[in-house]
Amino acid sequence: MPNELLSESLALAIKKLEARENSMRQFEELSNLGSWEIDLKTNATLWSKQTYKIYAEELSVEPDLVLFFSHVLPEDLQSAQIALQNAIKNGSVTSFQCRIQRCNGEVAHVIINGQVIYDDDKNPLKIIGTTQDITQLKIIQEHSDELAQLIEYSSNEIYIVNLETFQYLYANKGACAALGYSFDEFLSMNIYDINPYLLKEKVSKLKKELLSNGHVLNRSEHKRKDGSLYHVQSYIHKLKYNGVNAYVIFDTDISKSIEAERQLQRQSLQLYHQAHHDTLTDLPNRTLFKDRLAQAIISAKRNTKAFALLFIDLDQFKKINDSLGHHVGDEVLVEASKRFKNNLREEDTLARLGGDEFTIILKEIKTLQDIATICQKIILAIKEPMEVDGHTLYISSSIGISLYPQDALSSHDLIKYADTAMYKAKDEGRDNFQFYSSNMTALAFERVVMESSLRMAIKEQQFVVYYQPQYNISQNAIIGMEALIRWKHPSLGLVAPSKFIPIAEESGLIVEIDQIVMKLAMKQFALWYSQGLNPGVLSLNLAMKQLSEKYFIEMLLETMHGIGFKPEWLELEVTEGQVMNNPDASIEKLKKISEIGVELAIDDFGTGYSSLAYLKKMPLNKLKIDRSFVKDLPDDEEDAAITKAIIALGKSLNLKLIAEGVETQGQRDFLAQHGCDTIQGYFYAIPMPAEEILLLL
Ligand code: C2E
Ligand code: MG
Ligand code: MG
Repeated sequence: MPNELLSESLALAIKKLEARENSMRQFEELSNLGSWEIDLKTNATLWSKQTYKIYAEELSVEPDLVLFFSHVLPEDLQSAQIALQNAIKNGSVTSFQCRIQRCNGEVAHVIINGQVIYDDDKNPLKIIGTTQDITQLKIIQEHSDELAQLIEYSSNEIYIVNLETFQYLYANKGACAALGYSFDEFLSMNIYDINPYLLKEKVSKLKKELLSNGHVLNRSEHKRKDGSLYHVQSYIHKLKYNGVNAYVIFDTDISKSIEAERQLQRQSLQLYHQAHHDTLTDLPNRTLFKDRLAQAIISAKRNTKAFALLFIDLDQFKKINDSLGHHVGDEVLVEASKRFKNNLREEDTLARLGGDEFTIILKEIKTLQDIATICQKIILAIKEPMEVDGHTLYISSSIGISLYPQDALSSHDLIKYADTAMYKAKDEGRDNFQFYSSNMTALAFERVVMESSLRMAIKEQQFVVYYQPQYNISQNAIIGMEALIRWKHPSLGLVAPSKFIPIAEESGLIVEIDQIVMKLAMKQFALWYSQGLNPGVLSLNLAMKQLSEKYFIEMLLETMHGIGFKPEWLELEVTEGQVMNNPDASIEKLKKISEIGVELAIDDFGTGYSSLAYLKKMPLNKLKIDRSFVKDLPDDEEDAAITKAIIALGKSLNLKLIAEGVETQGQRDFLAQHGCDTIQGYFYAIPMPAEEILLLL
């Protein structure tokens, strides 16, 4: 090859070589990686530019192994030397980490990789290798190690959860300790396992918020492995964990602060209670009473309802206090407040204003009689002897009543008037109640008087029984009679049941009264039968209260037995309204009665709200069509239609029918024409005393 050509291709090769060295240098710089080689025979050493840079040596310095090892920190020196020796001896590739000190004093972390090169006879020729500066990496790694430690050993509970499956991916020591599960157990659990009250809807709401904000706050209750619960506050942050969409939860146990909060609440409630209640009786005090009165006015106004304010004063309480001492007085007040309370409903407010003064707000009262009844009960309750500290005390009370809205519209006036009325009661000789308006007192008294004279009537046997025959029109024969009570009042004369039965029912006296009628009527019927007469079946009106008496059936059987009255002579009438008031209980009772062979009739049928389903289930024998439908027959189209419908219903249920209150031929004919041939009414006979019936029979 000619010389020029040779030098030309040489120049080209050199150029190429230079280019390669250049890019090698750039590569070394980029990866912070320096290369070197050591001739093992001559110890001649070559360092790349980047290697110089890593050791911060001047480029003019001649490198060798001594220089190399002089940079290694004393602590790492031995292991570095051994690694190199081993590499030469075993001819292997070596890789080790150590710390070096640069010439500028900085300490750096490096990874050294080396490989021994051999000649054809397998003698070690040289060793080539790299030194990589990993100081930055090491710093980051140390930093994240520290962070991981911080998380792992934090006393807070920290979890990482898969955002899709809600499985736990990580739980720190704090979490394991707080919940009592091991790390491995956590890995097989999901968030619902420790959050028993967490709802799926709430989770999806939180997830939405988390995805849009990156973080979210929440409060929940955790359940430990042992089943106990505690409250936590959670800070939740979105993150990627090992490539998975996840979130990290930082939980703080806030049970203590919640408990403290509750304690505070309890304390303030207690303080509130103390400020609004009387310490002796624990009743609302004057402050709370005024509050309640204002509320009562607002709600009565809104609902256009009435209420009553009662002012009660214990009679001659001062005497007890003065003569027997305050401790006795205090006990009397406590006992009195209990007795008041026992006679009130849940919604009424009883308060103690101070001393022996009490007030009561009676809400939603319907009639004056209701108020009078309560007052009467209170007066009687207080009058019961009190055993206090070895003394038997007889105390009475005086009550004044003002009414909203009749008497006054403002709290101030209502209180003033009730107080005035209370003094009126004191003037009337104590131990009574007075309304602020005197005509109200009169009205209310009527009821109270009525009740007590009814008691008297029972005691003195002022009741008599009238009988009203029932006819079968096709046979023109008496088939039975209804017993109807009359009250022979010593001064008022004969009183009709409509005047006193409602009061007797309300006060419970009806039970006794009905038993009186039962006995009188049964005796009468037994007598007629024994005389060879045929009065038919006796219909007795019975209040449902009577049927609900625990031993009603026993009492009934005993009465019949004692008199010699046969069950088949008897029919009991119960009004539709009373039966349907509590149909399930009625069915039970009626079944038992029917079982002993006594017939059952529904009185005043059509005036209540019967359910056909119940009607079918009841062991009934007869429907009594109410007088109100019969009254305008046959002209009133509506009544005619209803009557026909009741007859059809009765027939379809296989029941006997009787119409009551039949006064005219027209009514009789209409009923007969439409299939009701049993009739009771003035048209045939009015209710009569036994002597007159005897003539009829
Ligand atoms: P009731 O059981 O529906 O009795 C029928 C009522 O209609 C009776 O009124 C009777 O006198 C009246 N009456 C009968 N035929 C005619 C008529 O043609 N025209 C008119 N206008 N009235 C007629 P009384 O005797 O005043 O009884 C009223 C209610 O008092 C009875 O209605 C019944 O519910 C109840 N009652 C009567 N006696 C007793 C009893 O001993 N115990 C119970 N618990 N309630 C009774
Ligand atoms: Mg009746
Ligand atoms: Mg009736």
